[in-house]
Amino acid sequence: MKIAVLSQNPNLYSTKRLIEAGMNKGHEMHIIDHSKCDLIIEKKRPGLIYQGKELEGFDGVIPRIGASITFYGTAVVRQFEMMKVFSSVESQALVRSRDKLRSLQILSRAGLGLPKTIFSNYSKNVGAIIDKAGGAPVVIKLLEGTQGLGVVLADNRNSAESILEAFNGLQARVIVQEFIKEAKGADIRAFVIDGVVVGSMKRQGKEGEFRSNLHRGGSAQIIELTDEEENAAIKAAKCLGLGVAGVDMLQSDRGPLILEVNSSPGLEGIEAATGKNIAGKIIKYVERNVD
Ligand code: ADP
Ligand code: GLU
Repeated sequence: MKIAVLSQNPNLYSTKRLIEAGMNKGHEMHIIDHSKCDLIIEKKRPGLIYQGKELEGFDGVIPRIGASITFYGTAVVRQFEMMKVFSSVESQALVRSRDKLRSLQILSRAGLGLPKTIFSNYSKNVGAIIDKAGGAPVVIKLLEGTQGLGVVLADNRNSAESILEAFNGLQARVIVQEFIKEAKGADIRAFVIDGVVVGSMKRQGKEGEFRSNLHRGGSAQIIELTDEEENAAIKAAKCLGLGVAGVDMLQSDRGPLILEVNSSPGLEGIEAATGKNIAGKIIKYVERNVD
């Protein structure tokens, strides 16, 4: 098979591992930088130009699209789909997963556990929003944040109010969320491929840090999920339409609460923690859908 990995950086662990895993299975692997593709749009003959040549003969595409280039990256994925190339992440699902608010609404409709979350249109009435989220402490998140940046814990009402006012003043959209104390600075990442959890890890924030992101100094360990956690992860990926997903959950007194579903989940942390060949499983998923 001829498979494209869409990535802006050939040196990233995830990109390298997907190329290696594909080559190990005898496939012809290409790294294509989606930001440098041109789209040909004409009647019934969609095409893509990369490095001066038209892309041809691809069987599958594995998008690794960064959050900052969602719009253009998805257009490239959509173009591949129009050319009848199988994508490990459907373009529509990719767009959906990048809209945090819309994703939370879809997860809520599916009956999945979520931390109580308030979203408002820069409301001046910050006190009421904090009350609705259950009162301080609350977690305030920039809607555009990733890797734990822009996620703030406000311990008391005063600081919560001033943080909200500051973000409002900057016209930065935020969500206000109940703080799940019993998660104890840890979260769970379940890696789902094709409706199956293929690996899971527990990430623990460094001492004194409530955010468990590896980029913020957290550490990861393999974990066995409960049935409830496993079912929640599978259902979350399914209702967002994601064939490949990293589902982040908090362990709470009322069961697993979904924090976010990542459509380009990193491979380094999960492969290191579980010792599993997750890249190989993504290649197998593409193989199953191309034959
Ligand atoms: P990002 O997408 O930037 O990683 P998250 O929403 O995943 O942002 O938050 C980062 C981390 O902060 C999570 O992995 C979790 O450890 C912690 N966290 C986030 N929301 C809550 C919450 N409501 N209660 C407790 N901890 C939280
Ligand atoms: N981009 C990484 C992932 O999706 C985030 C790792 C982290 O900092 O938690 O796995």
